[in-house]
Amino acid sequence: METALVTGAGGFLGSHLVDRLLADGYEVWGLDNFSTGSPRNLTSARSHRTFHLLRRDLIRPGTLPKTRTIYHLASPASPPRYQADPVGTLLVNSLGTLAVLRQAARAQARVVLASTSEVYGDPEVHPQPETYWGHVNPIGPRSCYDEGKRFAEALSVAFGRTEGVDVRIARIFNTYGPRMALDDGRVVSNFIVQGLRGKPLTVQGRGDQTRSFCYVSDLVEGLRRMADAPPRRVRGPVNLGNPRGERTVAELAELICKLTGGRSEIRHIPRATDDPEHRRPDLRRARSWLGWEPRVPLAQGLEQTVREFRERLGNAP
Ligand code: UDP
Repeated sequence: METALVTGAGGFLGSHLVDRLLADGYEVWGLDNFSTGSPRNLTSARSHRTFHLLRRDLIRPGTLPKTRTIYHLASPASPPRYQADPVGTLLVNSLGTLAVLRQAARAQARVVLASTSEVYGDPEVHPQPETYWGHVNPIGPRSCYDEGKRFAEALSVAFGRTEGVDVRIARIFNTYGPRMALDDGRVVSNFIVQGLRGKPLTVQGRGDQTRSFCYVSDLVEGLRRMADAPPRRVRGPVNLGNPRGERTVAELAELICKLTGGRSEIRHIPRATDDPEHRRPDLRRARSWLGWEPRVPLAQGLEQTVREFRERLGNAP
């Protein structure tokens, strides 16, 4: 039986990945300290005989299970969450990544590192190819995450060079879907919660900054293809995200307002410091190395997400 360890298994992405691996017939160890993830996300996983929950902090000493693949997702990931714990964010991306890589070297496991489009900072190149080195403020409010992930990438390639560890770096762009924490603070989750409650949708600044959004099932498929690619097929970091349907935040607010009942007004609030102006992946590597690109259109993915948020909020249509 194929085996995998997922760090950050209780998070939004981690829990969808666990469900997918179990459906694919894997034995899965899911590790989480639940600092930002939730045990509730693992409710269905926990009914599987082949799922093992490891409730612990990756940066504390302890042995990790021997598996063929390690998906390393553990880290706070939304701007308000990582900014609330900047030291913890830097430590899980440095010490936590070190623990994962040492285990991979011992067990000869392959690793999929969940990196981020944030390594590009506030990009001066649009869309962003993996060859772009980025424009990051090393001491700004986002630096704990951006530099933490940049360090994790650097440590991974160092382990590749010195220990021969097979690490595949996925640079994940904005992703959304069911199970995002209601208080995650991201734009999609904020707007849906606000819309369903009939509260104003909080658009930061003029709302002309852009993002392109990938539905979670597509993203999970991309992570699976990263892990399953033959050795040496993936020869560098790979962007995973949606190159289509780039939207301004103001346009997204209008769309979500409609999908949630149209009762909300738009309220402009101050823009966050160092907020990137534009973000969209150049997807050529993912297409050519993995044969992957997202399939779910934004309106369809948002409908599914709104439906699940509605259930959680106890807010019947
Ligand atoms: N944003 C917003 N209102 C909110 C939350 C976010 O206008 O309530 C904006 C934010 O300024 C940014 C974009 O939405 O330009 C995406 O923010 P998010 O936190 O979802 O992710 P990011 O792409 O910044 O990591």
